[in-house]
Amino acid sequence: MKVGYKSRGIVLKLLVIALIFFIAGCRAKEGLVPAESGPLKIYTTFYPLYDFTKKIVGDRAVVENLQPAGVEPHDYEPSPRQIASIYSGKLFIFLGEPMDAWAKKIEGQLQEKGVVTLEAGKGLIENNDPHIWLDPLLAREIARRIFEAVATVDGDNKSYYEKNYHELDEKFAMLDREYRDTLNAVTRRDIVTSHAAFGYLARRYGLNQIPISGLSPQQEPSAQQMAELITLCRSKGVKYIFFETLASPKLAEALAREAGAGTLVLNPIGGLTKEEMEASEDYFSIMAKNLAALKKALE
Ligand SMILES: [Zn+2]
Repeated sequence: MKVGYKSRGIVLKLLVIALIFFIAGCRAKEGLVPAESGPLKIYTTFYPLYDFTKKIVGDRAVVENLQPAGVEPHDYEPSPRQIASIYSGKLFIFLGEPMDAWAKKIEGQLQEKGVVTLEAGKGLIENNDPHIWLDPLLAREIARRIFEAVATVDGDNKSYYEKNYHELDEKFAMLDREYRDTLNAVTRRDIVTSHAAFGYLARRYGLNQIPISGLSPQQEPSAQQMAELITLCRSKGVKYIFFETLASPKLAEALAREAGAGTLVLNPIGGLTKEEMEASEDYFSIMAKNLAALKKALE
C-alpha cells in the first residue's frame, strides 16, 4: 500500500513537471514578450545572489532562491522539480562554475525556452575559487550585473530598480571603506579559516588566509596536514581559529584545542541558517559581524 502511495506521488510530480514544461514551451512560442500576467519572477541559485537581487527589485518582482535555508551551498543541486520551476521564471541568476555547475549545463535550454540567464561571476572567478561575493568590491560588481539584467527584462520599472541599485551600490562602497579602515589598523595578518572561502577577501585587504579545509568544506585535511597546521598556528601565536555556521566546527575546534587558541565564527555567507533568516540577517549584517570577528582575532 505504501508503494502505491509513493508511485502515485511520483506520477503526480511528473505531471507537474510536464505541465511546467508545456507552459514554458507555449510562452516561448508566443515570443515571450508582452502581455504577461502576474509579477516578474526571478530565480537565484544561492543566498548572496538572492539577497542582492531582492534589494534591487524590492516589491516589484518575486525572487525565489533555489537553495533552502541551512544548506551548505557547495555541491548543492536542486531537485528535478525545482529545476523545472526555473522555466516558469523570466530571469535566472547563477554564479558560475565551480559554484553551481548544474546551472551552466541547463543555461542553453533555458535560453531556448525564453528565460533570460545571468552568469553573475563570469570573468571574476579565478583558480576555481567561487567565493567572490566575500570581497565587497567583487560583490558590488555582481550587484551591478544583476541590476542590468533586471532592468533589461523589466524596463518599465527601470527607474525604481535604479534607485534601489544606487543605494545598494553605496552600501558596498561603505562596507569596503569599513573593511579597509579596520583591517589597516590591526597588527596581525594571518586568518585561520574553516575552509578556503576568504581568499578574495584576504587578497583585497592584505590578509593571509590559512584554510583548514580546501575550497569546499568537504575537502578535509590529512592527519599530517593537521599536524602541520597545529605547528604553524603555535609558531605564529594565532589567537583565534575561525569556524562557520553551515559546516561542522569539529576540525576548527580540534585545531584550536591543540594550538591553544580560541574559536570565532567567520561566516562565508554561502547560505543562511533558519535562525539567521528569522532574525532578518542579510549579507551586510553578517559582513559587519565578520569584520568584528576579524578585528578581535587580529588585534
Ligand atoms: Zn565555500
